[in-house]
Amino acid sequence: MSQKRDYYEVLGVTKDATEKDLKNAFRSLARKYHPDRSTEDDAEDKFKEIQEAYAVLSDTEKRQMYDRFGHDGPSGSPFGGFGGGGFNINLEDILGGDFFSSFFGGGSRRSSPRRGSDILIRHSINIESVLNGTSEELVIELPVRCVDCNGTGGENGETQTCSECGGQGRVRARQQIGPFVQDVVRECSSCGGSGRTIKSKCKTCSGSGRNQEETKLRFNIPLGAEDGTRLRMRGKGEPPANANGENGDLFIELEIEQHPWFERSNADLIMSLPLGYSDLILGTQVTLPHIDGEDLVIKVPAQTNSGETLEIRKRGLPRTRGSGRGDVVVLVKLHMPKKISKNVKKSLDVLRSDLAPDDIISRVEEDAEQRRN
Ligand SMILES: [Zn+2]
Ligand SMILES: [Zn+2]
Repeated sequence: MSQKRDYYEVLGVTKDATEKDLKNAFRSLARKYHPDRSTEDDAEDKFKEIQEAYAVLSDTEKRQMYDRFGHDGPSGSPFGGFGGGGFNINLEDILGGDFFSSFFGGGSRRSSPRRGSDILIRHSINIESVLNGTSEELVIELPVRCVDCNGTGGENGETQTCSECGGQGRVRARQQIGPFVQDVVRECSSCGGSGRTIKSKCKTCSGSGRNQEETKLRFNIPLGAEDGTRLRMRGKGEPPANANGENGDLFIELEIEQHPWFERSNADLIMSLPLGYSDLILGTQVTLPHIDGEDLVIKVPAQTNSGETLEIRKRGLPRTRGSGRGDVVVLVKLHMPKKISKNVKKSLDVLRSDLAPDDIISRVEEDAEQRRN
């Protein structure tokens, strides 16, 4: 058997931890490692470990024994009794009801008795919308609460108290995790947590309590929105599984269409501009239509190197933090023609020595002279 870790260390508290410290430490660790909820591989072992540590330290008598004797007590295993006989911690009291209701909603496919599920839709926009913060309108089918049964799913909205849970929506159960027995409160499976069941189904919604309905959504694109930005519309998600909960939320995820020549870097727009050799040497001016409706004039100075960048200030996208707009950044590149005519070749050959780097030519000549001597 592996060496047991110190109980105080397990809970991350000091030896003089108060009852409240212990409870707080246990609460946050239990939330993290609860096997029904945690995604970590060793969650169950971790959970057992912290549960055992808490069980011992929260019991004054056991804590005193542990402080005196550690894990190996005077009679071999002082805590054998609690390990074998089971240890009862009421997790709901410590963790609070919210913990359980949130994992009913999050972990299982059934929706929480309190709240309907969230809905995520994707919406494509172009870069101009990001610049101008356009207002959008969408017509989509969304689930809405059935009016005829008020979302209960029962004919004429009639329901009866669930016989399984007596209308509580929850049932208490004992659960064994390793050597530990714990009282857990589970959502009632007969009524899905609503505490109500139906006798005959509403004909409009076939008992589901909801109908698909064409819904018009209006929303504004936030200035400078990034690809993947999610806009939340509260209460526009799925209706709850039963009449007395609230709707989930609707999220609209923005997909920003690729621009033919701009790449985006936060508020800056980056583009590459291929130019001929002569343009790089002599300088030039390039005019492009721009997303803000005014032409973008790119002034390339004489003797610009391939790979240099030119910045055109404040013609990028709006900054999400602070104010103003980002820049347009132009990366200048040498354009290499695929075909070169004889005439061009001839002309370039005339220019060859003039365009070659001075220092190398002189070095080559020096070198040649040295060899001659
Ligand atoms: Zn029930
Ligand atoms: Zn209905």
